[in-house]
Amino acid sequence: MTPELVAAVDSAVKQRHARQASRDEIAFTCPKPEGHANRDAHPSARWNRTKAVWHCDVCGAAGGIIALARRLRLPLPERLGHVSRKETGRWTIRDGTGRPVAVKVRLEPGRNGRRKDYVWFHPDGRTPGATGRRALRHGLIQWTGGTLER
Ligand SMILES: [Zn+2]
Repeated sequence: MTPELVAAVDSAVKQRHARQASRDEIAFTCPKPEGHANRDAHPSARWNRTKAVWHCDVCGAAGGIIALARRLRLPLPERLGHVSRKETGRWTIRDGTGRPVAVKVRLEPGRNGRRKDYVWFHPDGRTPGATGRRALRHGLIQWTGGTLER
């Protein structure tokens, strides 16, 4: 958790019909509207900035600041966003001679609320520079009889 993230969550929470609920807590519209018949018209969730946790009295949704930031669709610092990401797919791209030229990896969940992200790197683990990355994305590497293997 970073002070920047706490500040970002705090200000996002305050835009959700917030009111001071107690000394340490702000009530705000629940970020899980599907848990409420009226989409939580009368704010039921509580955010504690000091402890960086939240809880909804009505639907029971609760958690730490990262989960809340995700629900509020706030961009997470890269480092934090990586914490629970998993590799869910890996492809090796080979040229016509069978030599691996690139590796493509799928990570889930993706950053900034996306379902997934793809990262590319050279078979030796180096990240391609901007030009190489563009070439890979646009398929400029010719697959002359090469195979795409899982
Ligand atoms: Zn709720």
